[in-house]
Amino acid sequence: MSHTLPALPYAFNALEPAIDAMTMEIHSQKHHKAYVDNLNKALEGHAELLKHDIVSLLKNISSVPESIRQTVINNGGGHHNHATFWEIMAPNAGGEPTGAIGEAIKTTFGDFTKFKDTFKQNGLTQFGSGWSWLVYDAASTGIKAIKKPNQDSPLMDGMVPLLGCDVWEHAYYLKYQNKRADYVDAWWTVVNWKKVDELFSAAKAGK
Ligand code: MN
Repeated sequence: MSHTLPALPYAFNALEPAIDAMTMEIHSQKHHKAYVDNLNKALEGHAELLKHDIVSLLKNISSVPESIRQTVINNGGGHHNHATFWEIMAPNAGGEPTGAIGEAIKTTFGDFTKFKDTFKQNGLTQFGSGWSWLVYDAASTGIKAIKKPNQDSPLMDGMVPLLGCDVWEHAYYLKYQNKRADYVDAWWTVVNWKKVDELFSAAKAGK
């Protein structure tokens, strides 16, 4: 099967004022679309690899032939990172995490404010392009705040992305220009904690 660009689960302007409509439209319809198209192009003729969904492909990245591996890391990672990103945001969202993920954040980081500080610092200190992530680490059966460059997926390291903030300039430059910190501060208002909690449950269950 080939990979497809998911439709956003809300309108392009639904996350305003945190993220403007033009940024959302270009981000989804140009940037994310290019990752999907380039991934499909790289996988042409690789029937075995086309049997895998995107999660399986990234988890088993070492089984991807070296000739196309970096292209799959960049574009397959870009596809899954963005598919996750659209889902963990929503209009009328934000606030404090509840449920199991709220508890895990308190246990792991002390409190929500300390978690936000760590997550934000990871985003601000990611030199160049990349992501700040909250992940479930299967090896330690706990959650972690990490940063990754480019479109490198946490799935390649055995970790499940639960919450990700895209800190590539294309994610914020139209509205925030060089002020990445202002973008991250505003981004918290559109975090869909209900979805993050669902991803946490699924990750713990090994799904
Ligand atoms: Mn992006």
